[in-house]
Amino acid sequence: MREAIERWVDDHRDYILAFTKALVSIPSENRYPSGDEKQVQMFLFRYLGALDCETDLFLPTDVPGLTEHEGYLGGRDYRDRPNVVGRRKGAGGGRSLLFSGHVDTVPRGDDPWTVDPFGGIVKDGRQYGLGLFDMKGGMAAAILALELLRELNVTLLGDVLVETVVDEEYGGANGTLACRLRGYEADLAIVPEPSNLAICPAHQGGSMFRIVFEGRAGRAFSGETLVNPVFAAARFLDIFREYERYHAAKRSSSPWFAADPGPPAYVQGVRAGPAHLPLTDRVPSSCSIDVWIQCYPGTTEEELRCDFEAFCLERAAGDELLRSMPPIIQKLIRFLPGTEIPSGHPALDVLAETARELHPGGLPVQGAPFACDAFVFHRYSRTPCIIWGPKGGNAHAADEYIDVEAFFLLVKLYALTIVQWCGVAAIGRPRRTDRG
Ligand SMILES: [Zn+2]
Repeated sequence: MREAIERWVDDHRDYILAFTKALVSIPSENRYPSGDEKQVQMFLFRYLGALDCETDLFLPTDVPGLTEHEGYLGGRDYRDRPNVVGRRKGAGGGRSLLFSGHVDTVPRGDDPWTVDPFGGIVKDGRQYGLGLFDMKGGMAAAILALELLRELNVTLLGDVLVETVVDEEYGGANGTLACRLRGYEADLAIVPEPSNLAICPAHQGGSMFRIVFEGRAGRAFSGETLVNPVFAAARFLDIFREYERYHAAKRSSSPWFAADPGPPAYVQGVRAGPAHLPLTDRVPSSCSIDVWIQCYPGTTEEELRCDFEAFCLERAAGDELLRSMPPIIQKLIRFLPGTEIPSGHPALDVLAETARELHPGGLPVQGAPFACDAFVFHRYSRTPCIIWGPKGGNAHAADEYIDVEAFFLLVKLYALTIVQWCGVAAIGRPRRTDRG
């Protein structure tokens, strides 16, 4: 089986990269609070149908109980944003496996790319594209693994499911939650977020805050007293820098994060004055700083927030300027908890063994250094979840890419994992798909 899988991938390298290119060429930017995922979802819906999958297409908000659920994040618009699920039925008696991932990408942004973000261009061993690393590539690898096994005419014992969801960026998670509430469960879920091929039984969580400073705007033509909030914000940035170091020194009791360099905290935006106007004409009325702070599994929202506030407010109280203009800390979006699979779960052995078969020396097993939708599985379903996805770089940045050789390996890894996890009922004569 392993040799047949390897041969198929080696014989279909151009086809594989054409498929990832096709996904990248259909923009699906998350335009909070709405998004443009529909076209790529219709493409995937048809594609999964052609792979003999039972398919399901539904708006998250059409799932009863979603908007009342404790895990639902309000304020999003789901018109024209369908989820897609495909199920390849097994013969019965095997374990089921679900690949779950998001098809929304971050918006392109203003940073210049050196290549077309929607071109899927291959250059120097990399394929470039917006959302290719995070995470159209991972979902493409899962679908290609399914296609490969169909062409090799492998009848599996357990079911394989592929779900592509909308609205993960900006802490969405509602698309993934909607699939759980619609009843999709499996013996294991793999979330192909960009883990650089590491098998991740755990992942970090995080919170987003806005720190606001209010001043008094204008130009003082009549002697008005102006208060410029940017200087207080600048002081606060120094405090946040200190916090970054303090926070990164934290360690996790989870063995999956034993070698982790510490949870990151980022300043992601600073705003003052009218950003939509080409020139400014006054002292701004307010200045705000947006930050994203990550945490390890086990840290609660309350713990993260209290620790952050105590650190910053204590230092602000010792600063004369900040005493006169205290920071106002606001919560943005939902808290995303870090979660982990129960230790000793049999999936870890299966995945590690599969990795050793295809990649001498195996692959690293460690906690993912980012937050993602995996928590939805651990909090709100019976399905245990592992994060395992492509190698690449520049997620949420210009020139996002996947490593092409590692991507071919990933397709092989997924195909062999499906075989090992779900079990094989029969192998027929290989068949060719008419690719039209
Ligand atoms: Zn992602």
